[in-house]
Amino acid sequence: MARGVGPRRPARTGRQARAARAMAGTKPAAGKPGRVQTARVEKKPAAAKKAGSAYDPVAPERVTEILKRLDGLYPEVKCALTHSSAWELLVATILSAQSTDANVNRVTPELFRKYPTIEAFAALTPEQLEPDVRSTGVFRNKSKSVVGAAKKVVSDFGGQVPDDMDKLLTLPGVARKTANVVLGSWFGKGVGVVVDTHVHRISRRLELTKQDDPQKIEQDLMKVLPQQRWILFSHQIIHHGRKLCIARKPKCAECSLENICHAGDKTWSTVDMHKNATA
Ligand code: SF4
Repeated sequence: MARGVGPRRPARTGRQARAARAMAGTKPAAGKPGRVQTARVEKKPAAAKKAGSAYDPVAPERVTEILKRLDGLYPEVKCALTHSSAWELLVATILSAQSTDANVNRVTPELFRKYPTIEAFAALTPEQLEPDVRSTGVFRNKSKSVVGAAKKVVSDFGGQVPDDMDKLLTLPGVARKTANVVLGSWFGKGVGVVVDTHVHRISRRLELTKQDDPQKIEQDLMKVLPQQRWILFSHQIIHHGRKLCIARKPKCAECSLENICHAGDKTWSTVDMHKNATA
C-alpha cells in the first residue's frame, strides 16, 4: 500500500480522548496524558450501572439514528449486480453466492449475450452452462440452479419470473436472500430484508440482532426496521461492509456511526464496547 493511504488513525493530540472522556464523564488516565484509550471501560458506581442497564440497542430512537447516519453515508445506493430484467437479476444473484459482485459482473454480460432469453437457458443442460459460469466458483451447483430455475419459470410461470415470495421459493437454488434481492431491487417489493454476509456481520455489530442464522437475523431486522427501509437498509449496509465496516479490520476511526456503535471488535472507540456484539 502506498504511503499515506492507509486507514486514518486518530491524532495523538488528546482531542479525541478528551471528547471520549467528556461523553463517558471520566477523568484523564494518569501517566499518559493525551493517549487515545481504546475501549477503556471505567468501573461505574452502582447507580450509574443501573442507568446503563436501561440501554436498549433496538430502541426506536437508536434505530432511527442509525438509519439517518446510513443515509448520510450512502444517500444513493442500489444493487451492484448488473442486470436489465428480473431474470438477469435472478441469475446474477444465484451466481453471486460465495463470489463477489465484481466477479459476477465480469461474467454476466457475455452470458446474457450468449443466452438472451429464459427459454435459451431452459434448453440447456447444467453441464453445458458450467464453462460459462466456472469463474464464479461452485459452478456445478450454480449451473444446476440456473438451468433448473429457467425450466421451472418456463413450465410453471409462463416464462415470467414471479413477483411473489412463495412462488420464487419454489425455484431451484432460490432461498429467501435471492428472492428478497429480486423482489426488492427489480419489483420494488420490500417483503423481507436481504441478509448476506455484510448484513449478517454488521447487524450483529450494531446489536440489531444477536442471532447467527440468516433467517432469524432477517426476522429480527423486520421487527426493528420500518418496512419502507427494508430494501434500502440492505443496500446501504452492503456498501458499508465493503467500504468501512469490513470483516477483519473495520475502519472505525473513519465511521460516522462510531459513537453509537458498541461492537466488541471495533478497532477504535470513544464509547464502551460490548463483547458479545461481534461479527
Ligand atoms: S464503528 Fe466500526 S464496527 Fe461500528 S459500524 Fe462503524 S466500522 Fe463498523
